Amino acid sequence: MLDYTHEDWKSRAASLSFRGQAFVDGKFVDAVSGKTFDSINPATGAVLTQVAECDEEDINRAVAAGRAAFEDGRWSRMAPGDRKAVMLKLVDLIRDNLEEMALLDSLDMGKLVTDAATIDAPGSAHFFQWYAETIDKVYDEVAPTGPGDLALVKRVPLGVVGAVTPWNFPLDMATWKAAAALAAGNSVVLKPAEQSPLSALRLAELAAEAGVPDGVFNVVPGFGVVAGKALGLHMDVDCLAFTGSTAIGKMFMQYSGQSNLKQVWPETGGKSPNLVFADCEDLDSAADMAAFGIFFNQGEVCSANSRLYVERSVKDAFVDKLIARAQAMQPGDPLDPASKMGAIVDEKQTQGIMRFVEEGKKTANLVTGGERITLDGKGCFVQPTIFDDVDHDNPLARDEIFGPVLSVIPFDSEDQAVTMANDSVYGLAASVWTDNLSRACRVSDKLMAGTVSVNTVDALSAMTPFGGMKQSGFGRDLSLHSLEKYTALKTTWIKYKA
Ligand code: NAD
Ligand code: MN
Repeated sequence: MLDYTHEDWKSRAASLSFRGQAFVDGKFVDAVSGKTFDSINPATGAVLTQVAECDEEDINRAVAAGRAAFEDGRWSRMAPGDRKAVMLKLVDLIRDNLEEMALLDSLDMGKLVTDAATIDAPGSAHFFQWYAETIDKVYDEVAPTGPGDLALVKRVPLGVVGAVTPWNFPLDMATWKAAAALAAGNSVVLKPAEQSPLSALRLAELAAEAGVPDGVFNVVPGFGVVAGKALGLHMDVDCLAFTGSTAIGKMFMQYSGQSNLKQVWPETGGKSPNLVFADCEDLDSAADMAAFGIFFNQGEVCSANSRLYVERSVKDAFVDKLIARAQAMQPGDPLDPASKMGAIVDEKQTQGIMRFVEEGKKTANLVTGGERITLDGKGCFVQPTIFDDVDHDNPLARDEIFGPVLSVIPFDSEDQAVTMANDSVYGLAASVWTDNLSRACRVSDKLMAGTVSVNTVDALSAMTPFGGMKQSGFGRDLSLHSLEKYTALKTTWIKYKA
């Protein structure tokens, strides 16, 4: 697959079949209303397939199926070794179908198929494997109560976990939620983003094939304001894991308050700062990674390094390096392995990005990019774009653009850099480039971000928690800590004759 040519990918895409129905209680079903919406390929504007447009009625059915499964214990009380074996079978199936999973995400939301095939799809298998392995390895606690009392402190599954996910890493965001929630023994009702529901629907089918029992993993596509809201307001959903924008994350907190006080775990937006100090010895690597940090996945990355603070003495030279890298990353057909950047997810997002760019042309110094382009007269593509000398208060430096747009801001001192970096409503991630060890540690300590990457960007692993501070939300995906979201602490006291 990694040696496929553009023609190979195109012919495989042409022969792909899509599942557009909802997956509820172990079966593909139409929306109760019979309604559908178009799934669109943003690189061409072509309609890929029709997808079930689910509403409250469908959410009710999925939650009821999840509840019934949870109550009778077909998954929640399955022997840990057996549950692990089912999840590991799913890992094999994802790996067997890697090419298809990669194509689904690439076609549905415009990312490079090469990235989907080397990062997203293998990542999904890896994360399922990682959580599968926790099932028979994570131990509970016994409190030191002394003779006569045995106090067991256990982590128990919650019941029905609702998950609402974004479109930028469709398969992996579905995986981050579902793998941990399922490993903990819950039932899951997943509402994928309307822009990119196809890989999650296929994932549910593979999960069933692997032996995940009916009702345990349901995928209910539809619009956020209808299906997402119904899940958020549902009286029988115990936990809602959300990844998406800060505005909608706040809504889920309200839905919980208006309904059953379900736990809500928001992982929301970001405007991550990247701090480059003049004492960074390898400014070429720093430039490579700064470009990757903002242009990877078309800049549609919650932790994208969209604010670049560069020490003034090296700023101009650094910007020149960045311009060269940006110009080498022009967007192209996502199915062409030679392309360096893919399509923006849809027309609306493209227009939103271009509004920032057009305003920016009036208020900052555009040094490269700045245009929307088409391929064969079609599609949603934006050039890698860099603004230099951006005022710290400019919306370019304040707002999450969620596109390939970088704002460069010079600084004169370490304190000033840290102050500006922290002066944001967001706190998802940050990067620091320096070869001064004390500075690296000192600055990392001061940065208010869920993840600080030193001499790299966007460091990420199944082994470490991912999530933010401030209005980037407080949910944490990945690592053993994610299991805490999907379990309740339960104490059982046992009296015995000592
Ligand atoms: P979004 O908030 O518009 O949508 C996310 C999900 O919420 C979708 O499934 C959508 O259908 C649903 N939704 C939308 N409106 C809703 C409503 N009124 N009620 C209930 N559900 C609703 O975000 P998006 O545009 O899909 O994704 C981009 C955002 O996601 C960015 O802000 C980005 O930073 C964020 N993001 C965060 C992380 C993270 O881990 N922190 C990861 C990826 C993306
Ligand atoms: Mn789409």
